[in-house]
Amino acid sequence: MKSDAIFTPGLVAAQQPTWPDAAAVKEAIAELESFPPLVFAGECDNLKAKIAQAARGDAFWLQGGDCAETFVGATADSIRNRIKTILQMAAVLQYFSSLPVIKVGRMAGQFAKPRSNDNETRDGVTLPAYRGDAVNDLEFTEKSRTPNPQRLVRVYNTSSATLNLVRAFTKGGFADLRQVHTWNRGFAADARFSARYEEMANEIGRAIKFMESAGVDPESFKAVDFYSSHEALILEYEKALTRIDSRTENPYDVSAHFLWIGERTRQLDGAHMDFAQKIHNPIGVKLGPKSTPEDVLAIIAKLNPDNEPGRLTFITRMGAGLIREKLPELIKTVEKSGAIVLWVCDPMHGNTYEAPSGYKTRKFDDVLDEVRGFFEVHKKLGTHPGGIHIELTGDDVTECVGGGEAISHEDLSSRYESACDPRLNHTQSLELAFLVAEMLRDHKK
Ligand code: PEP
Ligand code: MN
Repeated sequence: MKSDAIFTPGLVAAQQPTWPDAAAVKEAIAELESFPPLVFAGECDNLKAKIAQAARGDAFWLQGGDCAETFVGATADSIRNRIKTILQMAAVLQYFSSLPVIKVGRMAGQFAKPRSNDNETRDGVTLPAYRGDAVNDLEFTEKSRTPNPQRLVRVYNTSSATLNLVRAFTKGGFADLRQVHTWNRGFAADARFSARYEEMANEIGRAIKFMESAGVDPESFKAVDFYSSHEALILEYEKALTRIDSRTENPYDVSAHFLWIGERTRQLDGAHMDFAQKIHNPIGVKLGPKSTPEDVLAIIAKLNPDNEPGRLTFITRMGAGLIREKLPELIKTVEKSGAIVLWVCDPMHGNTYEAPSGYKTRKFDDVLDEVRGFFEVHKKLGTHPGGIHIELTGDDVTECVGGGEAISHEDLSSRYESACDPRLNHTQSLELAFLVAEMLRDHKK
């Protein structure tokens, strides 16, 4: 089906690349339209049901991965380390809270970035800004920075390879809860969190053995559902991968299970919100500190007028300094309206600053404080702090400062690898999981 038959033509789409060659774009779109789906509509519906469960307070959402995936970063080691990190965090959260944890990767499609400026100038040379590997290359040369639509085809292929490995890992025995120990292997881990993790893994192992000895051997221990997600940003790509589900005749964006609309592209009358409105996947919308109760109600009216549980997730990214001030009004408005939404805290995007050395960074303590504020607000209002959205990697990078390893501004240069925003490294991610798990356990008391 031609996408004009689904999506409203002629709307303004913010943050799109200026492709120099229209014929080449058409060619790339035609290729993408001929490819098989990366995910199935039924899987998106399963995720929606789990989000509905979390929105009721009966599950917790854990979404994590790179700010910007790269083609060269899609190696077996890097993908495996990210999956292991998310599985470890999920085990920690689940163990301490006794809640099911919905595992979602910012993975297998997170290749495009919104930018504040169209161009970047270095030493008097101005070139198009890097918009993610989906559009151009980070290297600062005219050739690399020129948007090339064949990259969208490579996004599909790299996402497909990534998802293939994700599925192999999570369905092929590696994610079996009996493997909870092995997920910690191979990490240059900080002894304190590692020891704490091992202790928990031992307890889980004992509990499983106890159940096995009683003849219980649940299938659910053997494989986990791991979902893919990314920001729906480059509309040529997302529309080309939107297909009509044969079961329901509804359109689904089969490039990922979960798509979110970013803070910079959520204009109510813009093309991104029209796109989100038309597809039947579960949808997230980012909410920054300028979001008003009216915005929130209008988003609900546009994206979930029938109040379908699990359809809509609000991912708030207020910043540690503003979360306690800005979030309560939005939650109260939603509660009063009767709308069912999942509230997720992104403690990354409101806490970015430039270190004296010029690196973009975030303080671990700010990340933690924003999550703490998120929990405090929900506690006060009697609502469910439904999940967290984290930029992380399983690698031992030095991009965010602080944490147990006390990474300093001076340390940033030793291993700063992000193509865009700074990510928590493996140790910081595990440390955060333990701290959030305590908050979640205390919240339930
Ligand atoms: C992101 O999630 O990488 C991002 C750009 O977020 P936001 O839209 O909240 O700024
Ligand atoms: Mn980011």
